[in-house]
Amino acid sequence: MQNLLDLDMAGLKAWLAQIGEKPFRANQLLRWIYSRGESDFAAMTDLARTFRERLPDVAEIRLPKIVSDKISDDGTRKFLMDVGASNLIETVFIPEADRGTLCVSTQVGCALDCSFCSTGKQGFNRNLTTSEIIGQLWLANQALGFDPAGDRIISNVVIMGMGEPLANFEALVPALNLMLDDHAYGLSRRRVTVSTSGIVPAMDRLREACPTALAVSLHAPNDALRDVLVPINQKYPLAELMAACKRYLENAPRDFITFEYVMLDGVNDSPAQARELVALVSKAKIHCKFNLIPFNPFPGSPYRRSSRERITAFANVLIGAGYVTTTRKTRGDDIDAACGQLAGQVQDKTRRTQHLKVVNEVGT
Ligand code: SF4
Repeated sequence: MQNLLDLDMAGLKAWLAQIGEKPFRANQLLRWIYSRGESDFAAMTDLARTFRERLPDVAEIRLPKIVSDKISDDGTRKFLMDVGASNLIETVFIPEADRGTLCVSTQVGCALDCSFCSTGKQGFNRNLTTSEIIGQLWLANQALGFDPAGDRIISNVVIMGMGEPLANFEALVPALNLMLDDHAYGLSRRRVTVSTSGIVPAMDRLREACPTALAVSLHAPNDALRDVLVPINQKYPLAELMAACKRYLENAPRDFITFEYVMLDGVNDSPAQARELVALVSKAKIHCKFNLIPFNPFPGSPYRRSSRERITAFANVLIGAGYVTTTRKTRGDDIDAACGQLAGQVQDKTRRTQHLKVVNEVGT
């Protein structure tokens, strides 16, 4: 039984050919499923009757299940979704005056273990499938009261939830294609942002396969510190990462990279480190913006959030050097939906959680 949510336009056409159906049915199916939000084949009235009646025997529309839906005081909404075998992932909707942004997960947990990240500490179970990635958008749309004839509620998608998106490349790209396809969600490439910790070869692949806006989790101005905070840096150090960012911009829908920088008190937040950061990106000649993220502490974390004064002083160095710099508002704190707090529930296969438990017990 083929889950149609696993297929983008090209995949759908190939599958239709396999079952002896005409390729134009792919456009119709995408429009029904995504533009109109329909999951019942019987309701897809402009499909030929014979095809419509055949569909339930050969295909299904299978989605994750929303098991909890919490709304924060500031309107941020966090969905917990069940993807089977006691694994739960998180999807967060952030409403703002001029946009509605959905933050989507790509893995159950994350294997990369950045030292400041709550998701990383949960360990890793598996990659999500394309249907589980695009299904988050489908389900959130429905829960938010999607009306096919009305305005978009979700205008932007950031692939910034649980997991490293580029470590799940094969499932990610068809999901991105569905977000962008005019027959499906039809979002602009500028409004879909993939966030990566810097898997250099996959950044090059994304630039070719499906360029979207790009955010890079930088978090440190030099290799010595980044090796500790973002361990993938040991494999793809800053010089390689900067070169990959530059290559990406040659084919990107936006003319800048967003560098994410979590503010950790006394670790990476001094004015001298801000100057080092300026030197790093200016030497590499990268057109970029900075997004400073006040750290969200979680149990067992060794870090503290930088004070407002330190964040302002750090930002002022970047702004003084001519870089657009924003400081992320901490939103959804009361429902653990803030950045770096997405934990879901992960049946960890890495034994990292076991290690963390021991460390915590020793530390108490
Ligand atoms: S910051 Fe991103 S890449 Fe690093 S552990 Fe967390 S989810 Fe994974």
